[in-house]
Amino acid sequence: MSADAVVIGCGVIGLSTAIRLRESGLDARIVTAELPANTTSAVAAAIWYPYKAYPQEDVLRWGARTFEVFEGLAANHGTGVRMREGVELGRERAGEPWWAGAVSGVRRCAEDELPAGYRDGHAFVVPVVEMPVYLRYLVDRFTAAGGEIEERVVGRPDELAGEARVLVNCAGLGAKGLLGDDSLRPIRGQVVRVRNPGLDRFSLDEDDPEGVTYVVPRSEDCILGGTADEGAWHTEPDAVAAAGILRRCTALEPRLAGAEVLEHRVGLRPGRPEVRLEREADAVLPRVHNYGHGGSGVTLSWGCAEEALRLVREALGP
Ligand SMILES: Cc1cc2nc3c(=O)[nH]c(=O)nc-3n(C[C@H](O)[C@H](O)[C@H](O)COP(=O)(O)OP(=O)(O)OC[C@H]3O[C@@H](n4cnc5c(N)ncnc54)[C@H](O)[C@@H]3O)c2cc1C
Repeated sequence: MSADAVVIGCGVIGLSTAIRLRESGLDARIVTAELPANTTSAVAAAIWYPYKAYPQEDVLRWGARTFEVFEGLAANHGTGVRMREGVELGRERAGEPWWAGAVSGVRRCAEDELPAGYRDGHAFVVPVVEMPVYLRYLVDRFTAAGGEIEERVVGRPDELAGEARVLVNCAGLGAKGLLGDDSLRPIRGQVVRVRNPGLDRFSLDEDDPEGVTYVVPRSEDCILGGTADEGAWHTEPDAVAAAGILRRCTALEPRLAGAEVLEHRVGLRPGRPEVRLEREADAVLPRVHNYGHGGSGVTLSWGCAEEALRLVREALGP
């Protein structure tokens, strides 16, 4: 029997979208090449923080809505979402972050809060999402709503015609091969996972000349980053990059010195000049696209999922 919608992809975007569809009463299922633990989403740090996603105005709107949903989820321990304070650091004096409108209580750091070498910083409280826990929570929520997940590589979108009335494309970087979208490019991100030596606050320096640098504490471990290599496809961790990450993060947070290294990971962010969130009506099988979230897929997930739901309803008609 044909479903209302089939969602391609089981990362944070596919799962959030599929949950919104099912919980609004639509019959939606997921088809995915990889299960959540093997997606880019599983590698994310993941702070609520708009990074390498465009256009800015939409990112702010989707991000603000996602922030609200995460604040609600943070009240439930089992979700993996937690509100944490952190600092964004700068080597030069700068104005408020451009996204400050979505976050209440952004404040300029006092000078004695800044690590050596920094001239500016802003402190704020945002959701930090422990992705392995959160992705399991999303899968459980989707299946509790009656959703099914099928492991299958989709070669062409129209091969799903007859299986559903609308296709919802949440394939991330996979949309490049699926649709021939040449504007999609990987932004390779490498991280080091270490045992948490007792840190609570995250720190981040987007403009470190040696590469984006961040320390994100979670319940048991810390994610240390990172890299943002545009156009790089290799997913093997690089030893030199890992050493650089450990050195820069320890300079930012000296309590990391000697922390036990647990894992090295790489994820390919789906970089695109603009997030593609739109309806394509003239295909054999009507499509709603929701991909290309760059370094902000977690930050934009619920805002984009709600807009995708509206587009799917439009595609299904009265
Ligand atoms: C190191 C790192 C740190 C990050 N930190 C943050 C952060 O702090 N905050 C933040 O908001 N974001 C962060 N991100 C970005 C975030 O991880 C991505 O934007 C997000 O994961 C994209 O989600 P997605 O669901 O679109 O893609 P993915 O997680 O890649 O999922 C795509 C899904 O589509 C499936 N698929 C693809 N092609 C096909 C096909 N042909 N057939 C069937 N299935 C297919 C895949 O198997 C997969 O299930 C980070 C990323 C990295 C790498």
